[in-house]
Amino acid sequence: MAQLELDLEATRAMLLEVAEGMISSTSYLTELDRVIGDGDHGIGMQHGFEAVRREISGPSFDSVGRMLQTVGTALMMSIGGASGAIFGTFFRGGGAKLPPEARLTSRTFAVFLSEGLSAVKARGKAKVGDKTMVDALEPAAWKAAELEAAPLSEAMAGAAEAARLGMERTKDMVASTGKSKTLGERSRGHADPGAASTHLMLKFMADFAARSASGG
Ligand code: ADP
Ligand code: MG
Repeated sequence: MAQLELDLEATRAMLLEVAEGMISSTSYLTELDRVIGDGDHGIGMQHGFEAVRREISGPSFDSVGRMLQTVGTALMMSIGGASGAIFGTFFRGGGAKLPPEARLTSRTFAVFLSEGLSAVKARGKAKVGDKTMVDALEPAAWKAAELEAAPLSEAMAGAAEAARLGMERTKDMVASTGKSKTLGERSRGHADPGAASTHLMLKFMADFAARSASGG
């Protein structure tokens, strides 16, 4: 039976799994940022998601939106550099716009991604084609909006795949924002680290939802 929604405890378990997954991806993300940036993205995300794990494990939350905002605050407080602000703004901006509900549905997932995207764009001023995480997040948000009536596991899988394709497209782009901007043409051929992180976060969510949907 397809899973239609996650309650608060399942959402917490999903976010803890995302944190574990991101922490395990440190060296992959470090490698990507070493090629086109300054090599700190993996360590940044590792510290960020260690803070997430600490901040969301204990407290009781009254809504999914508050839990997501807490994730954003933890990332913002613990990651230096551009991505603390960007990924923190994504979770905080998206979480702040959710209705005060204790469940995560395909509809709220779509709102989370599109409002998180708006907040990131307002803050960082990057648009599709600039070779940033926006290249993965924007197509994911569109796909989630398209799938807002589908079971959550399908919506998350669709968004993760859209983010993966967006991340792949960053390989053909030349960076015009952030540290890799100074590399210019040399950034071509390599995926943007933040786009890779965005794909991974959504993939870890989708993996969790797929297991919940199959009862496993
Ligand atoms: P820093 O750039 O400070 O070294 P990180 O290496 O942790 O920070 O993160 C770099 C990632 O942040 C980039 O790959 C890109 O996806 C994302 N990023 C940087 N600036 C912006 C921006 N203005 N808008 C959206 N994403 C951005
Ligand atoms: Mg960096």
